[in-house]
This record gives sequence, C-alpha cells and structure tokens, in this order.
Amino acid sequence: MPTLGNPRNTIEILQKYDFTFQKRFGQNFLIDTHVLDKIIRAAGVTKDDCVLEIGPGIGTMTQYLAESAGHVVAVEIDAKLIPILKETLAAYDNITVLNEDILKTDIQALSEAYNGGRPVKVVANLPYYITTPIIMNLLESNVPVDNITVMVQKEVADRMQTGPGSKDYGALSLAVQYYAEPYIVANVPPNCFMPRPNVGSAVIRLTKRSEPPVQVSDPDLMFRLIRASFNQRRKTLQNGLGNAAELSFSREEIAAAIESLGLAPTVRGEALSLEQFAALAERLGENRKP
Ligand code: SAM
Repeated sequence: MPTLGNPRNTIEILQKYDFTFQKRFGQNFLIDTHVLDKIIRAAGVTKDDCVLEIGPGIGTMTQYLAESAGHVVAVEIDAKLIPILKETLAAYDNITVLNEDILKTDIQALSEAYNGGRPVKVVANLPYYITTPIIMNLLESNVPVDNITVMVQKEVADRMQTGPGSKDYGALSLAVQYYAEPYIVANVPPNCFMPRPNVGSAVIRLTKRSEPPVQVSDPDLMFRLIRASFNQRRKTLQNGLGNAAELSFSREEIAAAIESLGLAPTVRGEALSLEQFAALAERLGENRKP
C-alpha cells in the first residue's frame, strides 16, 4: 500500500471504496506529508511509546505513527472507514483499530491493555466539533497520558495558549494551563486537508504537568469561579460572581475577597491570572470552612 499523505493516493482509496465525507464526523483528511512529519516529531514518538490516535480516517497519520511508535491504538467512530483501514494498514502488525466513539472509550482500560498502565501519547488530527470535550476529558480524568499533540482549529489553539489581556483568554485557557503546558507547534492552512475546512488549523502540544502550577485546596471551586467569571465576560468580576446561580457567596464576601487580593472593585475576570483565580478560591473557600 503506498503512503497516503498526498491527494492522488487519498482520492484513489476514497474512490475505490466509494467513500463520502461525513460532515457530522468532522472529516477533513490530511494530505500533506510535511505536516504529518511535524506532528510526529512534536509528539516525540519513539518505539517505546504506545500512541492513542483519535479518528484515524483512512489511516494517513496512522501509517506514520506505526513507523515511529511501539504500538498504535486508533479509535474511529465511522464504521465505513474500518474496511479502508484494514487495507491501508495491512502492512503493520503494531496497530489496533477500534470502531468506537472516543468520548465513550475507556482510555484507562486501553492503557492497561496495550501499555501496561503506563502513560500513552495522544496524537490526532481531531474532529473539530468535539475538540474541547476530548481534550478536557483527557486532562481532567486521571487517565495516564504523557502528552497530547493534536491538530485543532487555529482559534482554539490560541485560546488554549493565551494569558490575561487577550480576547482569546477564557475558561479553556485556564483549564488547559492548570493541567498542561501548551505549545503551538505550527499553523496549518486549509489546503493541507481534503476537503478543505473553512477555518485555519494549528498543531498544539499539551504536555501534562506532574504537579499543577498553583496550589489550591478546592480546584472544583476555582473552576466554578472561572466559569462564572467568563460566562458574563463583559461584567465586572464582582457582578459576574454575584449573579452566578452555581455559587452561593454573598456580594459582601465576594467584594471583600477581591479587595483582599489588591484588585480594584471594577476588575473583570478576564484580567485575572490562574494564580489570582487560585488565590480568590482560597479566600472564598475560607468563608465556607466551619
Ligand atoms: N486522522 C485522519 C487524517 O488526519 O487524515 C482523519 C482526521 S479527521 C479531521 C477526524 C476523524 O475523526 C475522522 O476520521 C472522523 O470520522 C473521526 N471521528 C469523529 N468523531 C469521532 C469520535 N467521536 N470518536 C472517534 N473518532 C471520531
């Protein structure tokens, strides 16, 4: 089977199986070998690694991964792609293809079955319609993951990497940065895919942290504060938190906590760093202690 990372071989295999792209599955297949090389290098895949690939499509990146990794587990939701993958990956004996929805896959069990419970590397050209749930699930659940190197919508990559003061800064930035160190590896234009997406893309590597960068007694409270502040982005932090139904602090408690951090009463949530949200959670959490 010739390598797939070019338009001619991709079209050939798609025609052979009379495959039609499913928009609802976010199917935009990579047709650029330079981009594939960049992703594999950024992920730092070696023969010691077990790689989880989310959405192998026709197996373009899977072939590359199988060359570099010890084992590849590829989870694909579209049953129509399974016979294609059988053909395109036939030459490899280190790939397991599972016809499943990644949001319902037990990744802990996969790591135990294929990697002795050791952390896996996640590599993918993600289906964009579920980028955030996939990434947050990998970061928040305690599944053993070493790093996540994925193609995402450019705007989403920017949101994950940015800090206070940027229009892209939000709850996703803070959640990702609490669990991982983000690094944008490359921007990727629409002509590297078939069919072309109508947004720009970027490869981002999230290296899972062994320890969070801030100490906070109640991370769940911190994330509730973060979500409440960004749900009402144009409001002051004080009003955003005061209006939030999922929080039960009085306006006085909120005002006092904000003041004790040396912040102006008019400050907006989008101006606060992760450290400041952690400190705010500590102050407000103290009020809840018996
Ligand atoms: N890796 C291929 C490539 O780069 O050419 C395909 C990438 S395409 C952007 C996304 C892939 O994810 C598609 O093959 C799609 O069918 C698959 N997919 C979509 N939703 C999924 C889900 N919930 N679980 C597993 N795979 C999914």
